[in-house]
Amino acid sequence: MRHEAGTATKTTCPYCGVGCGIIATPRPNGSVSIEGDPEHPANFGRLCSKGSALAETLGTDERLLYPQIGGRRAAWDEALDLVADRFSAAIAEHGPDSVAFYVSGQLLTEDYYVANKLMKGFIGSANIDTNSRLCMASSVAGHRRAFGSDTVPGIYEDLELADLVVLVGSNLAWCHPVLYQRLAAAKEKRPEMKVVLIDPRRTMTADLADLHLAIAPDGDGVLFAGLLLYLANSDAIANGYIEQHTNGFKQALDAARGLDIARVAQETGLPAQQVEAFYRLFAARERTVTVYSQGVNQSALGTDKVNAIINCHLATGRIGRPGMGPFSVTGQPNAMGGREVGGLANMLAAHMDLENAAHRALVQRFWRSPRMADRPGLKAVEMFKAVADGRIRALWIMATNPVDSLPDADAVAAALRDCPFVVVSDIASATDTLRHAHVTLPSAGWGEKDGTVTNSERRISRQRAFLQPPGEARPDWWQIAQVAQRMGFADAFSYAGPADIFREHAALSACENEGTRDFDIGLHAGIEAADYAMMRPFQWPAREGEEVSRLFAAGGFYTPDRRARFVAVSPRRRQVCDTRYPMVLNTGRVRDHWHTMTRTGKSARLSAHLAEPYGELHPADAQRLGVGEAEIVHVESPHGAVLVRALVSPRQQQGSIFVPMHWTDQFCARGRVDALVPALTDPVSGQPALKNVAVRFSRFAAA
Ligand code: SF4
Repeated sequence: MRHEAGTATKTTCPYCGVGCGIIATPRPNGSVSIEGDPEHPANFGRLCSKGSALAETLGTDERLLYPQIGGRRAAWDEALDLVADRFSAAIAEHGPDSVAFYVSGQLLTEDYYVANKLMKGFIGSANIDTNSRLCMASSVAGHRRAFGSDTVPGIYEDLELADLVVLVGSNLAWCHPVLYQRLAAAKEKRPEMKVVLIDPRRTMTADLADLHLAIAPDGDGVLFAGLLLYLANSDAIANGYIEQHTNGFKQALDAARGLDIARVAQETGLPAQQVEAFYRLFAARERTVTVYSQGVNQSALGTDKVNAIINCHLATGRIGRPGMGPFSVTGQPNAMGGREVGGLANMLAAHMDLENAAHRALVQRFWRSPRMADRPGLKAVEMFKAVADGRIRALWIMATNPVDSLPDADAVAAALRDCPFVVVSDIASATDTLRHAHVTLPSAGWGEKDGTVTNSERRISRQRAFLQPPGEARPDWWQIAQVAQRMGFADAFSYAGPADIFREHAALSACENEGTRDFDIGLHAGIEAADYAMMRPFQWPAREGEEVSRLFAAGGFYTPDRRARFVAVSPRRRQVCDTRYPMVLNTGRVRDHWHTMTRTGKSARLSAHLAEPYGELHPADAQRLGVGEAEIVHVESPHGAVLVRALVSPRQQQGSIFVPMHWTDQFCARGRVDALVPALTDPVSGQPALKNVAVRFSRFAAA
């Protein structure tokens, strides 16, 4: 129900992984007032441009309002029956691995939990993956290699307490704006704090940095492996911590041999003085936080880069103490919540491991499931290749738009066009993915549904409904549970509501299972609906009488011997260009839009910041190719082409072009930048390499 005018509801922003608290208050005229929640520990009342404009993105315009089959309106029962029948038929004829779910970090934890349970515990396949694979899978893999589990050691306050904040591949000012505001405010109060930015582009974040290392694309692994060697040679390592709490230091150091400053400078394209200045700062400042995001993760070398960073923190013992630690910040509002319930093809619920027989048995007992997946499923890019070659016969896509966001996007569109059965659950009525759906299901959106999300510092917050869903829109968890019931699993999927699902999720987390207790929300295993309704933001692990904000200061990792693992990364830099495609394409976000703009595209205010797709290029490249400011540029790779408006700027490195990821064919003809990106992934994490793509460009001449 829509709350009465004047009734304030505490909820959480649906955009980035900062996870800001919001107070939403419907007004008598039908609009909604949006304010930052001063009591929420992520933002203390702050909001960025996107969060502040949330009210402008609500309403029924461009919303899916009722289920459709083949483009005609259908009743929910008819649509759900058809989905259940077609999935059951594919499983009966071709086996459980012939079906798949492709879900999203936009889903709430409760939605994610139910989808994961149906696919892994009842269908018996692990073919469920998420668009979070595009965002942070390399961090997940790096955490698991180093810590034995996917655990972020630190909290946001560490950025304020640090003497040195190193930002790697992170445009915090635009992509995590409130965290950037907190960092900028702390730096103003404590001028002795230093900020180093490592990014090929001189982004807005560089304006806060004392030192900007405009590194060559994918040079980060070399830079941090060289740092490990420098720390060892400078006696800046914590021998006691290494001996007591880690394994593998010597091998990691051996792998970095030869990476002196001159060699690092040569490999990374940085002046040797800058490399040395950074290394000196890092060695001298104990309170150091290294924040990293997509520039590290979205790479064919992503997991090695993550471990190269973590190695330096383990070697100095700078982890889990105030103002110290490696810190992966997630892109999406609930990428972390999806990880907690096993929303990735290689994970189980409660951070358990799909490839661990004891974990599988525990979860199977708990779910009373008839058949458990016993091997990892298809990760995002592989999943759509399996759709293309006919191995996947029925696919359910929830809250995401893979035709625009996956690499080799034209091949993804072709795969969906040929897939025998595609279901899409979404809030938007006109995405490029919806065109390929045999069945469309209208989902409840932000402000219309209840559940929980987890932000980048492990803080679980409630999203709460304050609006009536339009038309016949229903929550995603309800849609999945209804299909599960129709597939014959009524007992296991008869949830009364999200509180019921959260209670089950917490009870699974509370199960005794040595070595998996890092994710512990077991205190909430018996939570009543009224307490769930009133739940305040909290961090995991949450244990009786114990506040645990930071982890690993005294070891206690989740490996079998409780010691962290150094990873011996082989430092190298991936060079992609050749004479035919001599430029590097880098993709990313802009300040005021979100993903494929199904929500932010509705706000004129947000669209005014950057109104159309652009390609940012260096003045020397523009001059060489005869491209003037604001002229149309044709950018081409072996996989596709886009047309964008030239933005000539010295902030861009020579030999490269930056194109934002947001615009789609819906907003602009030939605007889908991910059509240029090959389906190349990191071999450990399966995360696509979206930031280092060989292209060529030229001034566009209309025929
Ligand atoms: Fe929302 Fe992120 Fe902005 Fe906070 S920083 S208001 S979570 S988009």
